[in-house]
Amino acid sequence: MPELQALLDLLYRKHKPARGGTLASYIPELAKADPNRFALASCGVDGSRAGAGDLNARFTLQSVSKPFVFGLALAAHGRKRVREEVGVEPTGESFHSVIRLDADRKRPYNPMINPGAIAMAGLIPGGTPARRQTALLKGLSVFAGRPLSINDKVFRSERSTGHRNRAIAHLMRHFGSIPGEIEHTLDLYFKQCATAVDCRDLALMGATLANGGVNPVTGKRALPARFVRDLLTLMFTCGLYTYAGEWAYTVGLPAKSGVSGAILAVVPGKMGVAAFSPRVDAHGNSVRGLKALREFSARRNLHVFEAR
Ligand code: GLU
Repeated sequence: MPELQALLDLLYRKHKPARGGTLASYIPELAKADPNRFALASCGVDGSRAGAGDLNARFTLQSVSKPFVFGLALAAHGRKRVREEVGVEPTGESFHSVIRLDADRKRPYNPMINPGAIAMAGLIPGGTPARRQTALLKGLSVFAGRPLSINDKVFRSERSTGHRNRAIAHLMRHFGSIPGEIEHTLDLYFKQCATAVDCRDLALMGATLANGGVNPVTGKRALPARFVRDLLTLMFTCGLYTYAGEWAYTVGLPAKSGVSGAILAVVPGKMGVAAFSPRVDAHGNSVRGLKALREFSARRNLHVFEAR
């Protein structure tokens, strides 16, 4: 798709000079990222690829892992069981908000904020920590079409400083969720966040969702088709932290961002498109990534509610 390549080249050149935002530093290892990195990549449901910028730069998924692990939990346990642990209401709050659990059922509001995401990590099956880690990495790797691994430095950095997530997990245990050893589930959550990808991997993960759960390059099914809409709905309503409503209104695509500077958007039935640039704004979203994807959607008329 040559015109897509030309558009990504253009958006790369146009938004590269943007200097706003800062590196996330509450996970010390993330503050060591090269702030100038910038990459854009797309992958169609026919497997066609385009990309511009630092396509070989690796980064960690951070919160972009959340919809995928929600998917792994759904595939393992079904919708009914998963919905016992987590709601589907947007909160309009930041990703690490501790305080609000669903007033009636004491469940986290949704799987895109940390309490819900930690509950989903708690549902990854396997019995032992090692088997659960294997299930996590295997599951994510089918989306990416290659064996993914964990950035151990980022994992250790978050594990040794993740007091807020630890507090969230213990509060949830107080209300009866997260069975088993809490530290094991927290480790798994920190590992899903520390899973390393590049921008092309991320675009292919999105293309797999756009393609009904089948990886368009390998032909392997990553997610039962019936759960794809669950992920895309939550990405649409809750994917960009406290900017989710603004994003849905202006860009109009299911998407998920992470504090590493990654953003993944999905054009259902068409493609995945990913951006990576580590400087994030006050909401926690990549500054260049937002600008580039906003323009990508507008130029190609991709808002899902656009009258066509
Ligand atoms: N590992 C990060 C945390 O739990 C993920 C945050 C994010 O990307 O939003 O704090």
